[in-house]
Amino acid sequence: MRKNVIAGNWKMNKVLSEANEFVDAVIEKVPNSDNVEAIVCAPFVYLPSLVEKAKGTNLKVAAQNMHFEENGAYTGEVSPVMLKDLGVTHVVLGHSERREYFAETDETVNQKTVAAFKHGLTPIVCVGETLEQREANETMSLVEDQVKKAVAGLSNEQVAETIIAYEPIWAIGTGKTASSEDANEVCKHIRNVVKEVTSADTADKVIIQYGGSVKPANVEELLAQSDIDGALVGGASLEADSFLQLVEAGA
Ligand code: 13P
Repeated sequence: MRKNVIAGNWKMNKVLSEANEFVDAVIEKVPNSDNVEAIVCAPFVYLPSLVEKAKGTNLKVAAQNMHFEENGAYTGEVSPVMLKDLGVTHVVLGHSERREYFAETDETVNQKTVAAFKHGLTPIVCVGETLEQREANETMSLVEDQVKKAVAGLSNEQVAETIIAYEPIWAIGTGKTASSEDANEVCKHIRNVVKEVTSADTADKVIIQYGGSVKPANVEELLAQSDIDGALVGGASLEADSFLQLVEAGA
């Protein structure tokens, strides 16, 4: 049985006091359940404070990006070694906003995914199509390509531990959610792709999230689908109450 992973991606939002208040408000309420894992994906500058607060609780803390090198002359970057040293457990890689605005490519996403495992971090690898690609019937082939390139060079055990987030770009921040059936169809395809490049057992274990305008009102229907194992949530994860409702729906 796969658990639901509910991850709140704050993106570039909140000041430190707001980040701390959020975690203070949710920390005792995140359920201790084998069915759900709750993660906040926070800006780098809040990670030390949030990791400290989350120690010994059911809340996990993720970064929203990282470099693939361990150290060196990469001004402005943060390495996997730094994240691991802080106690961060997960890292979002290849979010469509990073692909679009920060020149992230399938190749760098793969380098970062490999680096995450090398340093004991769990990658949340994002894939998904634009509206133009969906209308041109390219969704399945594009997502297949993104997934294959992201996990290239990983062992089957590492692929089984990878979290894949299917986020159709046209559904991000737009209020338009993919219908739960359409979202499930793509997530099922991703699981088949994982099976093709690894094994049936690996495909059975890999967590596949849906992301794009997920909110308390639609999360249950999405999580009820056969191949959706959680959600990567932007806007609706910013308020503590709403985040808790999403986590409870997954428990
Ligand atoms: P929204 O939930 O705001 O649509 O954002 C989705 C997302 O990009 C999460 O990573």
